[in-house]
Amino acid sequence: MQALRLYGASDLRLEDIPVPEAEPGGLVVKVEACAICGSDLRNVRAGGSSHGMDLPITIGHEIAGTVHGIGEGTEGFEPGQRVVLATITPCGQCINCLRGIQNQCDRKTAISYQYDGGFAEFVAVPPRHVAAGGVFPMPEGLSFAEVSITEPFSCALNGQELSRVGLGDVVCVMGAGPVGLMHCLLARARGAAKVFLADVAPARLELSRDFPEIDNRVDASREDPVERVLHWTGGVGADVVITAAPSGKAQVQATRMAAKRGRVNLFGGLPKGESETVFDSNVIHYKELFVHGASDSTVPQMMTILDLMASGQLRPGRLITGILPLSRFREGFELAASGNALKVVLEPGK
Ligand SMILES: [Zn+2]
Ligand SMILES: [Zn+2]
Repeated sequence: MQALRLYGASDLRLEDIPVPEAEPGGLVVKVEACAICGSDLRNVRAGGSSHGMDLPITIGHEIAGTVHGIGEGTEGFEPGQRVVLATITPCGQCINCLRGIQNQCDRKTAISYQYDGGFAEFVAVPPRHVAAGGVFPMPEGLSFAEVSITEPFSCALNGQELSRVGLGDVVCVMGAGPVGLMHCLLARARGAAKVFLADVAPARLELSRDFPEIDNRVDASREDPVERVLHWTGGVGADVVITAAPSGKAQVQATRMAAKRGRVNLFGGLPKGESETVFDSNVIHYKELFVHGASDSTVPQMMTILDLMASGQLRPGRLITGILPLSRFREGFELAASGNALKVVLEPGK
């Protein structure tokens, strides 16, 4: 089968490798759609990840497909069943798993980091992943491409649960990439009264024009987003500010545009070596801000996103601006990195 394997920095090879077999307790899924994630772009560029990546490895972790092989003793699945995969595999036994924060598992592993991923015709789902509940039945009425982006959406949901985004909130998202737009859609679905979007790239803001969920946009390369948000809120500021951009400057602006007692979510990480941001801590102190981070997601959050997609409250199709066969992966990666696309999905076996 064809598989896209990472060997080192910018060394991606489309190779012919054997179709995997299902381990006892595991599955093999025929991949119908696997979306390109910002982390894929970073890992390819860097030739690995700071979280550890066992090279060479088949990358791709935003996966939807059909059950192809069922391992001995694996229960609850049928051949041909349409499924969506979680990315991380929590251990289920460490203190953080026991506390219910599987996304913070001390011993977590992940598809496309320790296990071969979904830019391939078939992906082996390890027994540990199946046991942790990381394989979800796909709701009716959605395409494989649409549900392939469940995982990044679930990470946004984890962030918004931590920020307690709710009814009547004014939410400002910094960063108009696919994840920033997911935050906008999700904030609206959670009852936000106003949703603002800021970015320094006009092309990215342009891509957000078709989203009625967004009330106002600001081009932060030309205007001060702090001033704009204060203007739009009558000087009050945003109840929740979410940074979905690799920018320390955006993090600082987030604290300045937040309302008193506002929540500031440092959702997007910063590049290695550039992750020290200087804040005026008195802004946080006097405004009584809650500043927090967010990383990965849990099984219940994946289930919630699938339910919201099934009910039509989240319509993911609008976020997918490119679908290409796996053989055109280079084009797909370039498109995803260009800033002129939202989610780009690769379809193996096409
Ligand atoms: Zn991802
Ligand atoms: Zn754990």
